[in-house]
Amino acid sequence: MNGRRLEIHDRIMERVFIDPMTGCWIWQGPTSGTKGRGKNYPRMSLGGQTVAVHLVMWTNEHGYIPGKKQLDHKCRNRLCVNPDPMHTELVTHKERQKRRDRARAGMIGQNGGPLLECEEMSR
Ligand SMILES: [Zn+2]
Repeated sequence: MNGRRLEIHDRIMERVFIDPMTGCWIWQGPTSGTKGRGKNYPRMSLGGQTVAVHLVMWTNEHGYIPGKKQLDHKCRNRLCVNPDPMHTELVTHKERQKRRDRARAGMIGQNGGPLLECEEMSR
């Protein structure tokens, strides 16, 4: 990592709690609020702009996100900023919706375990 990326990484990690059970990097800073569709996503200020922390962490680690792809929380924890593909993974919009529907139906969970185990751990 170069200096700038390392600096951003460190700034984020200062406000992260690493969950030893799930491996989630749980953001402890501000979020996008508790209402609406985009609620409970981690937010931070970077270069005078408010940005989504999990996106910053991902691009910092892997590079740009192609226009047609979205970042999905495979671990189903919106506050998780772990750039590992076990936690956040690039998918198409369609795939992301499919996963969300499946998660809602209770068919997938962390490591094949109970649904939203990861999310509940963060509370
Ligand atoms: Zn996670």
